[in-house]
Amino acid sequence: MTRKKQLIIIGGVAAGVKAAARARRVNQDLDITLFESGADVSYSACGEPYYISGVIPKREHLVIRRPEEFLKDNIKINIYHQVTSINSDTQTLVAVDTTTRQSKQYHYDQLIIATGAQAVIPPIPGCDLQGVVSLRTLNDSDRLRQLLLDKQSIQAVIVGSGYIGLELAESLKRRGAEVSVIDFCHQIFPRIDPLMSELIQKKLLEKGVNVFLNESIDSIQGQKQTVESIKTQSGQILPCNLVIMACGVKPNVSLALQSGIKLGSTGAIAVNQKLQTNVENIYAAGDCVESRHRISGLPAWLPLGDIANLQGRVAGENTAGGNARFPGILGTSIFRCFDLQIGMTGLTDLEIKDQNIDCCETVIHSRDRARYYPDGQTLSIKLTAQKSNGKILGAQAVGQGGVAKIIDISATALLGNLSCFDLEFADLAYAPPFSPVLSPMIIAASELRKKINL
Ligand code: FAD
Repeated sequence: MTRKKQLIIIGGVAAGVKAAARARRVNQDLDITLFESGADVSYSACGEPYYISGVIPKREHLVIRRPEEFLKDNIKINIYHQVTSINSDTQTLVAVDTTTRQSKQYHYDQLIIATGAQAVIPPIPGCDLQGVVSLRTLNDSDRLRQLLLDKQSIQAVIVGSGYIGLELAESLKRRGAEVSVIDFCHQIFPRIDPLMSELIQKKLLEKGVNVFLNESIDSIQGQKQTVESIKTQSGQILPCNLVIMACGVKPNVSLALQSGIKLGSTGAIAVNQKLQTNVENIYAAGDCVESRHRISGLPAWLPLGDIANLQGRVAGENTAGGNARFPGILGTSIFRCFDLQIGMTGLTDLEIKDQNIDCCETVIHSRDRARYYPDGQTLSIKLTAQKSNGKILGAQAVGQGGVAKIIDISATALLGNLSCFDLEFADLAYAPPFSPVLSPMIIAASELRKKINL
């Protein structure tokens, strides 16, 4: 009898489980085993801020598939199993059952590393006090949710104004907390262009969130092991009983590094379009992996769930005998902060400047539906194009409605190499409840075309 080929996957949140499911669909004969060091697999971390706020009432709602459901597809899931080493010469790895401390060696024919990313915790005094938390796993959200339920009144400081920090500002406000956000950058949500950032800051202030910019955290003070305040580097003391570290994430690459797998310039695992690493029969996917930016052609690392799922599909298909390719990313993302939607795709101001691209940009403020139709809101769009040919380079949008539509049109325009001239005459959907008669996208493209004088 011929031995079944062994596919092993390390990491079981998004990229890992997507890879397992895809590999099984493509190849019924593979033996598929997944190791996950945590307690949960196949869940939506993206939904955690809404579980914390109470909009999503139960943690089960965020779980997509349980280990026993994978077993129906003959995919063996081992939770609480930490892979501690990989030997690529013998094509074996060691996994430790963290409940019994027993370790075991496993053989693989193909291996997918989907170890994801972890929250960055700045090495400052007081980080180990009770009430200092970060958010990544479902267990992290359980802990944070419980802390919010246990305390009579919450004074929270969120360190970092990336999208997770801003989503949490809304979640905590919904729970009645007093919230401050601090960021070492001069603007809120440093990834976005300054004009758009101002709109987010305005919303935070309107919702009663205190904002401290150009400020970083120096230390956390507390008594009886419990947090009482933070001190900023400029010497301000902010009293609080909850500190949320939302200062970014870093890829989990130590296992890959130990195994001789090369990293890219961003510090994440370098892979080719088939998601193969430099080591034979080892693939990688998701937040631990570096991508190529499709507009600049440069290495890029954007740890997002949709990319992790797309990459998981490619890695799963290829390890099952297929020939799929992951073409790269556009830098598309969207999130909500209170009633404001914030989205972006393509290159930012900073990236365009870094690459010395001669560009032209426009910012428009339009209605998101027909002027006479009730509940219309302002939608702000920033569109940037190359000066020489009007080719779209990037788009950002902030508003209470219609942001996802604008960003998805723009991402598709980027994919198709379209110019502002193409977009100005795009046949986009219109009816009064959805858009003004000329879509704000068309208005922005038209303004940009006039500026570029094409
Ligand atoms: P991870 O989710 O990090 O999973 C990797 C898993 O590997 C972890 O469970 C880890 O325990 C395990 N692991 C690591 N090392 C080992 C080892 N040695 N042995 C065994 N197991 C190991 N993205 C979006 O696109 N949109 C959103 O709205 C959005 N919102 C988010 C909100 C929050 C609060 C968070 C935390 C993330 C959000 N994301 C969002 C990001 C998205 O969740 C991640 O991009 C996605 O989870 C990445 O999936 P992954 O499988 O690559 O990695």
